[in-house]
Amino acid sequence: VLRLDGVRKSFGSTQVLRGISFEVARHEVVALLGPSGSGKSTLMKCVNLLERVDDGQIWLGDTDITDPRENQDRIRARIGVVFQQFNLFPHMTVLRNVTLAAIKVHHWQRDRAEARALELLDRIGMRAKANAYPDQLSGGQQQRVAIARALMTDPELLLLDEITSALDPMLVGEVLNMVTELKAQGTTILMATHEMSFAHEAADRIVLMRGGVIAENGTPQQVMDESDDPATREFFAHFR
Ligand code: ATP
Ligand code: MG
Repeated sequence: VLRLDGVRKSFGSTQVLRGISFEVARHEVVALLGPSGSGKSTLMKCVNLLERVDDGQIWLGDTDITDPRENQDRIRARIGVVFQQFNLFPHMTVLRNVTLAAIKVHHWQRDRAEARALELLDRIGMRAKANAYPDQLSGGQQQRVAIARALMTDPELLLLDEITSALDPMLVGEVLNMVTELKAQGTTILMATHEMSFAHEAADRIVLMRGGVIAENGTPQQVMDESDDPATREFFAHFR
């Protein structure tokens, strides 16, 4: 579904991504791990076209999404994204939040967008909150609504960037459970997270970034439990 090939990105003289190559296969859940500042969010933004790569290609299916001639909105409809926070517009109802991009960016009819949104909200047990405002929901409920919104266009790939790190510890579980459910339904997911035990349990593969390159790429067991690399062992030792 997704293939990165030699992706490079600098901000000024800081080389954040120094040749990143890996794949996410269909139905796979890949956890992107690495120290703070290692470039996880930058990589996610390159995939979502919020940042332009300096070099390399990013393939979504057969489309090289780094090619400026490709239609950016059409590519964005194929990728769902949820960030750490500030996901919902506070002055809009849940239903409006969920339907907004589908209507404004992807030019769906309102009826179609609302029907799809209500179906998704129903699936996550939030249909009764369709007319509520974000501040009437818990942080966990808000993030679940943000995930529902990301699924509106039935994307081929879901990008989740630290979606639980702004939440009260009490609320983390319900959001991670939703990720587990999506995985069970076959959703293809690339997620940056600091929730190591969740990554171990839910990810099919771990991609560990360090110093702008990929230090490890393997199963949770290979990377988190069995790596011989001292820096990798040191990194995971912090989370035990
Ligand atoms: P965290 O785990 O804290 O979320 P991260 O792995 O997501 O970290 P990034 O946010 O991708 O890391 O940042 C990587 C590096 O790029 C950092 O040194 C950061 O300061 C720098 N950086 C990110 N965005 C920009 C920007 N727009 N302009 C300049 N530097 C940036
Ligand atoms: Mg980040």
